[in-house]
Amino acid sequence: MDIDSLRPHLSPTASINFATDAEFHTNTERWSTYKPPTPGAVVNVATEEDISATIKWAITNNVQFLARSGAHGSTFTFSALSQAGIVINLRFMNKVTVDLANSKATISAGAITSEVLTAAHAAGAHVATGQCNAVGAITAYLGGGLGNQKAMYGLGVDNMLEARLVTATGDVVVVSEMENKELWWGLRGAGHNFGIVSQLTVKAYEQVNRGLHWSGTLGYPGATENVGKIVGAINTLGFGQGKPMGCTMVWARAPPDFQPMVLVNVWYGGSASLAETTFAPLLSLGPFLNTAAPTPYPGVNSVNDFPSIKDGSKRMIFGTSHFSINPETIVNVFTDWETFTRETPDASHSIVLTEYYDAAKEAEVDIDETAYPWRGRNVYMLAVGQFTDMAYEGKVQEWGARFKSLLVKEEERTVYVNFATGDEDLEMVYGGKERLDRLRALKAKWDPNGAFSYYNAIK
Ligand SMILES: Cc1cc2nc3c(=O)[nH]c(=O)nc-3n(C[C@H](O)[C@H](O)[C@H](O)COP(=O)(O)OP(=O)(O)OC[C@H]3O[C@@H](n4cnc5c(N)ncnc54)[C@H](O)[C@@H]3O)c2cc1C
Repeated sequence: MDIDSLRPHLSPTASINFATDAEFHTNTERWSTYKPPTPGAVVNVATEEDISATIKWAITNNVQFLARSGAHGSTFTFSALSQAGIVINLRFMNKVTVDLANSKATISAGAITSEVLTAAHAAGAHVATGQCNAVGAITAYLGGGLGNQKAMYGLGVDNMLEARLVTATGDVVVVSEMENKELWWGLRGAGHNFGIVSQLTVKAYEQVNRGLHWSGTLGYPGATENVGKIVGAINTLGFGQGKPMGCTMVWARAPPDFQPMVLVNVWYGGSASLAETTFAPLLSLGPFLNTAAPTPYPGVNSVNDFPSIKDGSKRMIFGTSHFSINPETIVNVFTDWETFTRETPDASHSIVLTEYYDAAKEAEVDIDETAYPWRGRNVYMLAVGQFTDMAYEGKVQEWGARFKSLLVKEEERTVYVNFATGDEDLEMVYGGKERLDRLRALKAKWDPNGAFSYYNAIK
């Protein structure tokens, strides 16, 4: 590819790396190395004009391209981007501006979640984000936007006010309730399909409890009887009743002896005394580890940092979403995870996350308001198969298939687009035929040649 012809069109701070450059690895590194994209070059853009110029150059030169922000996207279809293609690395466009007086924050294309929390806190504000610091902030919004704070502010998509979108032609359009209204619907739930969002404006709020939340980890031995009790206790906390709370149960084998453990990362948007009353059913089970404490807002996601690190592992994800889930079902899934990770040493770091959110606030918004189809669900389950040797690919796939079928019959299965494996029926991802057809019409209008088609693409 003649990428030198792009250089004159880029801003002075933009750069281009090839595989032989020292920076290439950092600027293309991904959370999962399973079937990754294998670009021939990476363009590190610094401005919206750089994104636009790069897309125009790519179209003219018939070069495939893939945007990258937090690099946690993990559907295996990324591998369709080959050496002949480029990555448009947005990570250097990470500015976040918070204007609390006008109740809004502006997030640049490649900012990650921790950068939004830090900027919001500095301005004395809260902004609804995902709950993993290293994940791209805008990309989480575009799929729906799950995070503990949705108990207070609704889904990420309910907090979007306006997007600047660089389209498949390289032109820039404003998308909002007032402009390009149908695209605004599609962007909020299927937003990775239509262009690169160079800037997203979202709602900002006054902080609760002066920005001091309650968060930490409760640890329990990973015995089957504990899992049933823990899930039973979580089911009594009152998810769906509009409480400012969330928790994520994680099954992992932890050093030094790699015995199974159940960790519950808890969060409450308020005082420690209210939190401890709310979480009493879990605390009374006597966790051997309890780090829950008042935590300044920028630190609320730290408990979720360990599953997010980029360590060169191959990872496959398998997701489901639910209104509620009963202890017996989860115990069966736990038993299968325990057996799989014990009998498959190369995949022993595989984990299962069960994310509980309060969905009362998001349920106030009509289901047809946005393209996000799974509004009102309180529980999202995500199995992460982690391995190093491709010889175990089949074993991990089989475990993922069992995980899904133990949880829910195929015809009733639904998956959050940001947790999709990449081989699901699109109706299962985008919410049935009618919604999918509406999205197909948008795709035909805004991306007729499928330039943005590496990530659960609408076809
Ligand atoms: C460990 C982990 C934790 C997670 N936690 C959460 C969570 O708390 N809440 C939640 O909702 N989701 C969560 N997710 C899912 C996450 O939102 C998706 O994986 C998301 O796609 C990752 O975005 P990224 O920027 O990190 O990845 P990338 O791989 O950089 O991007 C994912 C896709 O979006 C495209 N893209 C990147 N930037 C832009 C842009 N500015 N405009 C348009 N398209 C763009 C890319 O081309 C790619 O197709 C998590 C995932 C993982 C692996």
